Amino acid sequence: MQGTPEVAVLRLGHRPGRDERMTTHVGLAARALGADRVILAREGASRAGTIEDIVDRFGGPFAVETTDSPRAALKDWDGAVVHLTMYGLPIQDVEGEIRTTFEAGTPLLAVVGAGKVPFDIYEAADHNVAVTNQPHSEVASLAVFLDHLFEGEELDREWEDPKHVVVPQSEGKQVKEP
Ligand code: SAM
Repeated sequence: MQGTPEVAVLRLGHRPGRDERMTTHVGLAARALGADRVILAREGASRAGTIEDIVDRFGGPFAVETTDSPRAALKDWDGAVVHLTMYGLPIQDVEGEIRTTFEAGTPLLAVVGAGKVPFDIYEAADHNVAVTNQPHSEVASLAVFLDHLFEGEELDREWEDPKHVVVPQSEGKQVKEP
């Protein structure tokens, strides 16, 4: 997001057939809620075009990248790594420390899984963070995490070069071309 250190989201895992919409929605939620890019690992790369299509239609900046080496992407990240997992420490207990580092200028990589996440990812992360210690979803946990990180300021993010702009309505739908 403009005026903040870089935030990237690494989407680990993708079960073809089962995770198509989830991987797409990880990318769309990352974009809508203030991240600068998403990195799709291995089979998740198949969703890149769908996410890029939304960037093309509704604006950016937002980058979509793919990798066959998610561990290298994580290991080579020059900043803090936050792995979102129901087994981690409660977000409300650690978000202050994470935000302090972030606001001091450290880029942040948020990591979300699909199926079982290998244990070395837990070890490689600087923070293993839980959005409640209950099982739910990578899209939900990413959304809550980004909103807490940015303290709601991502909701006012401005978009560059959109082809479509939604005009907020109390009823109905209105979309204009700028
Ligand atoms: N059982 C899997 C495991 O061993 O990690 C989790 C699968 S879950 C359907 C998919 C992803 O959602 C997880 O890898 C994690 O990133 C995210 N997730 C699910 N519940 C979460 C929670 N309570 N807090 C943070 N992230 C969560």
